[in-house]
Amino acid sequence: LIQLYIPLNFLGVLYREIKQSLTDLDRMFTLLEREREIADAPGARPLAIEHATVRFEHVDFGYHPERQILHDVSFEIPGGKTVAVVGPSGSGKSTLARLLYRFYDVDGGRITVDRQDVRQVTQDSLRRAIGIVPQDTVLFNDSVRYNIAYGRTSATQAEIEAAARAAHIHAFIAAQPRGYDTMVGERGLKVSGGEKQRIAIARTLLKNPPMLIFDEATSALDSASERAIQGELASAARGKTALVIAHRLSTIVDAHQIIVLESGRVTERGTHAELLASGGTYARMWKLQQSGSGERSMPEQTVPAT
Ligand code: ADP
Ligand code: MG
Repeated sequence: LIQLYIPLNFLGVLYREIKQSLTDLDRMFTLLEREREIADAPGARPLAIEHATVRFEHVDFGYHPERQILHDVSFEIPGGKTVAVVGPSGSGKSTLARLLYRFYDVDGGRITVDRQDVRQVTQDSLRRAIGIVPQDTVLFNDSVRYNIAYGRTSATQAEIEAAARAAHIHAFIAAQPRGYDTMVGERGLKVSGGEKQRIAIARTLLKNPPMLIFDEATSALDSASERAIQGELASAARGKTALVIAHRLSTIVDAHQIIVLESGRVTERGTHAELLASGGTYARMWKLQQSGSGERSMPEQTVPAT
């Protein structure tokens, strides 16, 4: 019965999950729900990537019919460029990321990659082409090695380690008695939000796909680690098509275009300099963060008590 509504490409993952942990049942059903909504169109073709140009065209979306979240959102990420999205919490930024990865389908408008509607290509080919560091990473109840190599199972140990080093998580892993064989997840090693985020970053660096989504990818890290990893993320994004959702504006000043999203609508767009000059929401957010009051993370330096 289950096979009726699980796309084949998902069975491998689901099987692992079932086998390894029945306590994950809740989550599995959530995945099933989603997968049931989102299925390959009949005759769906693999995504053919040329430049990896992403376009959102008049996108409307709501998780529930009675509450529309995104309203007529349009923007383009030219192949190889970075578009950053900023805006208040709840404005719909993560929703954009989820729609591009096709966790959900749009209600109106369309999303294309190199002119192909994401609903018309196979999910597997779309997701292979995208590396995503989500806001909240869920790890598999499996080894650290599996969790990092998940996006590219053919990776060698040396490649896995290189990715882990770049994500500043290698030392932590190496310090565990079982190293990369350490089990993580509910019944394994407890890892913090920051460590999960680093594992997701390592996974994405290793996968090395043509399109990247960073959804507040370093939000769980302290500012020193964030600065250190930011360089790695920037070099990973070079030449790739990237959708970067930023919680700290200083990390996106070089973006090709910055989009301000408020209540599900694009209210401003332009380069950092253009948006500062226009003196709108972005300029206000920038001033707030420069003065420090907009910082969500720990202060960078503490003054020793005297
Ligand atoms: P942001 O990332 O900008 O903080 P989100 O895209 O996560 O915002 O959320 C936009 C809106 O959609 C919020 O009002 C949020 O409560 C709602 N929302 C997010 N995820 C879901 C979901 N799975 N089901 C219903 N509503 C959701
Ligand atoms: Mg979000």
